[in-house]
Amino acid sequence: MAEPITLADDGSLVVPDEPIVPFIEGDGTGIDIWPAARSVLDAAAARRGRRIGWTEVLAGEKAYRETGDWLPTETVDAFRRYRVGIKGPLTTPVGGGIRSLNVALRQVLDLYVCLRPVRWFRGVPSPVRHPEKVDMVVFRENTEDVYAGFELAQGSPEAKKLIEYLTDELGWEVRPDSGIGLKPVSVTGSKRLQRAALDYAIARGRRSVTLVHKGNIMKFTEGAFKRWGYELVVEEFAERAVSWDDCGGDPGDRVLVKDVIADAFLQQILTRPDEYDVIATTNLNGDYVSDALAAQVGGIGIAPGANVNNVTGHGVFEATHGTAPRYAGLDKVNPGSLILSGVLMFEHLGWHDAAADIVGALEATIDAGIVTYDFARLMDEATEVKTSEFAAAIVDRL
Ligand code: NAP
Repeated sequence: MAEPITLADDGSLVVPDEPIVPFIEGDGTGIDIWPAARSVLDAAAARRGRRIGWTEVLAGEKAYRETGDWLPTETVDAFRRYRVGIKGPLTTPVGGGIRSLNVALRQVLDLYVCLRPVRWFRGVPSPVRHPEKVDMVVFRENTEDVYAGFELAQGSPEAKKLIEYLTDELGWEVRPDSGIGLKPVSVTGSKRLQRAALDYAIARGRRSVTLVHKGNIMKFTEGAFKRWGYELVVEEFAERAVSWDDCGGDPGDRVLVKDVIADAFLQQILTRPDEYDVIATTNLNGDYVSDALAAQVGGIGIAPGANVNNVTGHGVFEATHGTAPRYAGLDKVNPGSLILSGVLMFEHLGWHDAAADIVGALEATIDAGIVTYDFARLMDEATEVKTSEFAAAIVDRL
């Protein structure tokens, strides 16, 4: 019988053999990729003697049609109660309603880690010569920086008031015709994100954690993020991790912690990507970095994502692309992003065997040249298949 996932006293997840997992089908191509992804996840779980107690919850257009609400309270409650859930892409309501359903879920559940693993799958068309050198896991801070930022429009009474205050009280000369943006970066927000990255690196035997920041310009937000990261290594991880400065670049069997300025990082992921492994970064940098890396491995259509709170165990696993509405219902688009998000979900549940099975089967399918239209159009010899056929080919190879 399906049962809820709970949290043990030591903070670890207690996962039954048939956990209740809420899912949001998603708008647009959600109707194509969700059933495809579900078939792969079910088959992989069954091979390892497990089941998933799926329970549908509504969000987006389907929710609005059926309940008049874009994000019904029951949906948020289900994610809160059952801790782990998965979702297809959702339409962002234009003109009114809440700004973004994805952001709302992240805020309500305080999902402070945005996790984006980026690696290349053999056979995937890529714009670079050595995509196989990219194997990174990005930890992007998910609750502050520009996500908690505040902007005042140029010419507004509020902007005028703040400009006067800045000039009079802090002696900061700001052009009167400026728009103003503010962004907070806190010790709490930074260290819990960095802690998650370090825990992950240690648990998975990864070599290094790199703090990506723009601290040369923004000293008290981005620069502080770097400083707090190094502080955390000494405070909580001295046995298992060491900063570059404290080991001269030779960490022994500990995880090496280093940092790099964001613009240099965006160059170096092209020139020497194999020097980077786990990445911890602030919100806006993380946005650029995740997409740049995904493009490098040809993976925009198959890049997975997760939003996680490592303390409560809450996690929402999601396709990173949008609803691609013009392909909706055509059984055409690539379900890879949602399938690999399911893999991240399995890893979060501790189902590492089933997760590895799916990755292996996906790899074998692409390697056999069996791909959806998005890859087929970039490959010389490929068999173009439908969404459902691609999923079936993966299941065959599990
Ligand atoms: P999009 O839906 O991601 O589509 C842009 C293009 O990406 C598509 O035209 C297609 O390119 C490619 N693509 C997307 N999904 C694909 C898949 N599964 N397989 C293969 N190719 C895929 O972006 P958008 O058109 O800007 O946004 C549409 C809606 O989605 C908006 O309402 C937006 O707010 C929302 N959105 C939601 C999320 C989310 O829920 N996480 C994220 C982003 C956007 P080609 O046509 O070149 O093949």
